[in-house]
Amino acid sequence: MDTKDDQLKAIRDEVLALKASPLYAARIAAGAYPVIGEGNHDAKLMFIGEAPGKNEAEQGRPFCGAAGRVLDELLEGAGIKREDVYITNIVKDRPPANRDPSPQEIALYGPFLDRQIDSIQPKIIATLGRFSMQYLLEKFGAQEAGLTIGVLHGTPIAASASYGPITIFPLYHPAAALYSGATKEVLQGDFQKLKEVVK
Ligand code: URA
Repeated sequence: MDTKDDQLKAIRDEVLALKASPLYAARIAAGAYPVIGEGNHDAKLMFIGEAPGKNEAEQGRPFCGAAGRVLDELLEGAGIKREDVYITNIVKDRPPANRDPSPQEIALYGPFLDRQIDSIQPKIIATLGRFSMQYLLEKFGAQEAGLTIGVLHGTPIAASASYGPITIFPLYHPAAALYSGATKEVLQGDFQKLKEVVK
């Protein structure tokens, strides 16, 4: 049986070579990187965003640009250390001009996220934005699938993973806080709730 590190490295190698992706050619042309994810391979808490932006694709690291600075601030406010959690996205390559990921891209990259979850086995999965929320709720057959993020943000949802019970915790995407102070306040409040769930 491969170790966790072997499994995660295999995912990285497969995504690096994913020529079937409609985003592969643009990645190579830009001299950019896929963003696989980073953090603690034994994390109890995993964050799942949408797709890398420009900074992320240049550095091969999740949430290292403007949205990442908001995420760092929210983590700090909740007393959660970035090095204790694992952070990734559904789509591992940058969609051009930061457009929304397409259903085809989500279907292509989703199985890599599924393998990351099965390998890391987080107890709590906090989704950042509506795409990862919807993907996770559908994946785990939650009855909340189809409800909006406006309804579900900050609400713990119980689900059953292959390795045991988990909690899905929907959050707004940190980038939304860049444009709306009200959304930032909602995110700050939801991170305080997340802190209690993680305890
Ligand atoms: N937005 C995301 O959804 N993910 C990142 O890694 C950066 C910005």
